[in-house]
Amino acid sequence: MSGIRRVLATDIDGTLVGFGGENDLADYLARRSDIGVIYLTGRTRHNAEGLIHRHNLPGPVALVTDTGAEVYWGRELRADDRWAFQQRKDWSPRRVQDALTSVPGVSYAGRSSHWRLAYRVESEDGLSSARTHLIRAGVPARTLWDPADGRLDVIPRGALKGRALRYVLQNLRITAHHCFVAGDAENDSDMLQGRYQGVLVANGSAELTLHLSDRIYRANYPGAQGVLEGLRRWLKDDAARPLASPPGFVS
Ligand SMILES: [Mg+2]
Repeated sequence: MSGIRRVLATDIDGTLVGFGGENDLADYLARRSDIGVIYLTGRTRHNAEGLIHRHNLPGPVALVTDTGAEVYWGRELRADDRWAFQQRKDWSPRRVQDALTSVPGVSYAGRSSHWRLAYRVESEDGLSSARTHLIRAGVPARTLWDPADGRLDVIPRGALKGRALRYVLQNLRITAHHCFVAGDAENDSDMLQGRYQGVLVANGSAELTLHLSDRIYRANYPGAQGVLEGLRRWLKDDAARPLASPPGFVS
């Protein structure tokens, strides 16, 4: 890990995989041992691990799962207990269920992990009632709304990719300057609005493009090819700048 001088911090679905070009990106990253990869995904660890292997993507420097609720370190995926403890402190799936149990137009659709409860919501009214009920019940949680699917996910308040990324970079002692972010959707927005340079792939959410910082490049290509396009552009600029001393890493 000592040869790593910069990192690619990237979402998985719709960004790294799903639009072709995955092999080209995997080959490129395999040749660039100076670039470490931090994966940040809404998936569970098991799910994310499977996808990374299937597409021959590099082993992670860190893997952030469940939209930021869990952090795992290195290829061996050591769980970060300190981070998990912080997330657990105010996360109560039972309280979420109690708060939403009798909201009209809102029905429980199951739990994909300890960190995510899904609800079917029939209308905009149902959506705002669900949010109001959570607030009134004093349940500290965040909601993710997928209008195409009529699905509302409830996740821990502190489960944010951007927040987890800051924590990971601090631990690795990598500055924002040496981190390049990549994403496509709403749950990447706090990474893409941060202090980092990065790329929004061409298939990225139209709404997201309205709120991007000017450090984020809009790729011409979707998915992995868009990440590669953005990354190459960034590295070309970066090569012209003097490199800071190599960042330190926690073992
Ligand atoms: Mg995505």
